[in-house]
Amino acid sequence: MDLSRVRNFGVVAHIDAGKTTVSERILFDAGVQHRCGNVDEGDTVLDWMAEERARGITITAAASTVPWRDHQLNLIDTPGHVDFTVEVERSMRVLDGAVLVLDGVAGVQAQSETVWRQMQRHQVPGLVFVNKLDRKGADFLRVVRQARQRLGARVRPLQFPLFDNERLSGLVDLLALRTWVFDGDGVRATAQADAVPASCADEVGVLRAELLEDLAGDDETLLEAVTAGRSIVPEVALRALRRRVLARTLVPVLCGAALRNLGIQPLLDAIVDLLPSPLDLPPVIGQDPRNGQRIERSPAADAPACALAFKVQLTPHGDLTFVRVYAGTIVPGSGLWNPRLRQHERVTRVLRIHAEHGQPLERAQAGDIVALVGPRHTATGDTLCTKDAPIVLESLTVPDPVLTLWVEPRSTADRDKLHQALLRLAHEDPSLRVREDADTGRWLMSGMGELHLEVVRHRLQSDFHVACAVGAPSVAYREAPRRPARAEAHVEHAVGAKTIVGDVEVEVQPDPDCVRPEIEWAPGCPVPGEYRPAIEEALRLECHVGPRLGYPLVHARVTVVGARIDRAHDSEVAFVEAATKALRAALEQSGIDLLEPWMRIEVEARAEFASGILNDLSQRRAEVDDVVADGDLRTIHGTVALRRMFGYATAVRSLSQGQAAFSLTPVELRPTGE
Ligand code: GDP
Ligand code: MG
Repeated sequence: MDLSRVRNFGVVAHIDAGKTTVSERILFDAGVQHRCGNVDEGDTVLDWMAEERARGITITAAASTVPWRDHQLNLIDTPGHVDFTVEVERSMRVLDGAVLVLDGVAGVQAQSETVWRQMQRHQVPGLVFVNKLDRKGADFLRVVRQARQRLGARVRPLQFPLFDNERLSGLVDLLALRTWVFDGDGVRATAQADAVPASCADEVGVLRAELLEDLAGDDETLLEAVTAGRSIVPEVALRALRRRVLARTLVPVLCGAALRNLGIQPLLDAIVDLLPSPLDLPPVIGQDPRNGQRIERSPAADAPACALAFKVQLTPHGDLTFVRVYAGTIVPGSGLWNPRLRQHERVTRVLRIHAEHGQPLERAQAGDIVALVGPRHTATGDTLCTKDAPIVLESLTVPDPVLTLWVEPRSTADRDKLHQALLRLAHEDPSLRVREDADTGRWLMSGMGELHLEVVRHRLQSDFHVACAVGAPSVAYREAPRRPARAEAHVEHAVGAKTIVGDVEVEVQPDPDCVRPEIEWAPGCPVPGEYRPAIEEALRLECHVGPRLGYPLVHARVTVVGARIDRAHDSEVAFVEAATKALRAALEQSGIDLLEPWMRIEVEARAEFASGILNDLSQRRAEVDDVVADGDLRTIHGTVALRRMFGYATAVRSLSQGQAAFSLTPVELRPTGE
């Protein structure tokens, strides 16, 4: 496989913009055997869930391969709902480029901006596809202007839609000056070298000139041709555009209507022509687990194998571990090393997933995205590599859970089944934590929000056939030091005929940038090097159980500042005890705040419902930042304490006749003031 012919890409969108429809059409048009399903009309969160689930593996397969123009396109599934932070994170981590689908009527919506920001954070090059141009009220150029303002990017149309009596009839490619005319039912499109229709010649001329001028800015050949008024070679312009897309300094905008199959084939062409191949990317970076040194691996097929497991998926035929291969070659029957578990995993089969079907492969190579059968212990985020050239790739950043609730089987006979199912789900989803409550014997699950845990409960029922009852959610509190404080502790014990002594001074400083407590050593601190690992370990454990109510300590920098050394009587045990005591005393002096999770909230609703929703939010003591009006639509942005938002899905449904959409994403921890 020639790597320059591979495209690993994803389709991202605000709910209902048409991500599912576009993805299905891509599979369909590329000729992948696939049932082209109908999409539900529902727009509430739970409808969305039912919809995604009814679709089965087709769209939720972590990656499907489609062939196009002699290229291999790996379509990576991105979540249907941006609340699933880890799902977004994992797909962004392995895709090389993305198509952002915008609704031709609604334009740039709250979650379009959110996913766009995520793409920028992961430096993912993108194209924009303005969908639903067949709908009344759609306006391509208005959406382009909006994208330019709200995405903060250099956004330029690459196509222009054609209408025949207000019916979307085709599109013009502004670079090639080629016209795509859709036939009656829009199933097939034929590229014709038609002249641009006179009705839109002016607009096309202006948009093309603007695009070329932009591209000529850093392309000598193009600049000469443009200034001399010579005709532009389409391939030269396309190459210039590709460079700009890869550098993320220009975002081309395409158009169409996925539901009518309009514009999908030119979109596939653009994915091939403009999005990066694995060779266009910098080498992947990891760490040598033996010495922590930084290693780079280029995507060479003959390098030692290294792959990132980005999703573990349960299927009726066994577990699939989806991996992106970053270097080397994986063949069925080979063994791979999991450096986190320090364990060998056997690969029995390597599958390319075409929609619903897995096609066995003889090998997978650098740049590929495939599913492995065989690994049993590897979890989402793990690296698989060779034992003699071990590497740990940067894992997925998994945020800490913000919400906990208990779950119990309806029938006690199912207790074991529930336990197994929970472990299984936590293995698949690193943002789900599961533990047994020592007092009640109940299982507690913690996750990213009510919706997240609702999906888990749903899956326990539908995938594992365990009917469960769940308790009321409670938020995951944390503790944090209030003021800097210092304390010294001295311990002395008689052990047999000997006296052992430890004496340590510890300082605690509040630091909101420390998500987990940092343990540090002051320069010149006399604690002997051989005691330090044990002391660090003990201090970390001590921090895990917060001093006030036992919630984990965060936002703290703990420094061992001093010690009194008495070579004759020093001992590690005594030093560990002294350090722990000193930390407790320092925390006592510092005072402890109880922190709770705050969420970013976005609610989108028609204008008539906005004041009711705002009233309700103010009763929940939300801080509303702004309300953006766009036609009849209002988008409310703000922040609010998670504990005041329980049951919000139901509340907002009754406030909006079921028509508002909302999302809640964790942003920060704040003192409860108690
Ligand atoms: P997703 O939530 O982003 O996956 O959006 P879906 O693909 O589920 O589509 C949401 C709704 O928009 C469905 O009712 C689709 O039938 C409809 N839809 C999608 N694409 C188009 C289009 O091109 N034109 C029109 N008129 N409707 C569309
Ligand atoms: Mg969908």
